[in-house]
Amino acid sequence: MSMKIDHSQLSTYQQCPEKYCLSYEKQLTRADDQVNMPMLGGKAIHAGIASHAKKQSVPDAIKAVLGQPQAGERLYTLPNLIKAVREYADYMSLNFPGAEMLQTEKLHEMDLGDGITFEVKKDAVMRWNGGVYPVEIKTTARSAGLDQTFWKRWEYDEQVAAQIASCIKEYEECAGLILVGIRLAYRQRAYRGEPAGFHVEVSHQEYNRTSEQLVDWMVNVRGWVKKLAEDKRSATWGRHKSLCGWCDFDDLCKTCGDGEVMRTLYKQHDAYKYLKE
Ligand code: SF4
Repeated sequence: MSMKIDHSQLSTYQQCPEKYCLSYEKQLTRADDQVNMPMLGGKAIHAGIASHAKKQSVPDAIKAVLGQPQAGERLYTLPNLIKAVREYADYMSLNFPGAEMLQTEKLHEMDLGDGITFEVKKDAVMRWNGGVYPVEIKTTARSAGLDQTFWKRWEYDEQVAAQIASCIKEYEECAGLILVGIRLAYRQRAYRGEPAGFHVEVSHQEYNRTSEQLVDWMVNVRGWVKKLAEDKRSATWGRHKSLCGWCDFDDLCKTCGDGEVMRTLYKQHDAYKYLKE
């Protein structure tokens, strides 16, 4: 068996094997897909942060991703996203003074054995205070702010183990993953201490994994990838119906893969583009 996979592909398979097949094997997406502003805004912030680290133009990098202004958009606008990148940069200088940036937005291929290559894209890796830290940036517009519920889900998230394992493979050390939350909010009026208009909140938490937890993660990944390879080989994909109500492929699955529905409502795209950006 020889297979290349990453966290997004594996978690899609874990959610629903059929969804993995439609997303990554058939590379389908909704033909009527609206511009997903939170996703686009998040990508633009990542591009701005990478440009800032390379001492290149932040506005140009954001503009290149954001494209033309969207009518009526108040949150994900060019000035707001430039402000978000500046606030992130100020926050990092204040909390990690003297940090040396070792890499940004780099894809690392990790050999997990059994013919499995696991791809990890790290937003950044920095050397700070004698240790090497991967940095993962999450953008959000959640109204509750960066509270405990925002951070708690990452305690168990497999992305944390993947980032730490990848850092150890690349640098032979890892002092922990720094997860930075950037929250964008727009308020008509001042509310609970937040000003009216656009507002950015930046905060971070550190996560770590023991060597036993990293081995456990690798064994788990290998098990899932073997299942996936078997589904591929037999061209038989299970369906997890509990998530259908939130899935873009519900129209297709409801009609048992009807060809006319597929041609009308779906189109093909490069499902692996995010790894090349
Ligand atoms: S609609 Fe349901 S069964 Fe079909 S791919 Fe989505 S989650 Fe899976």
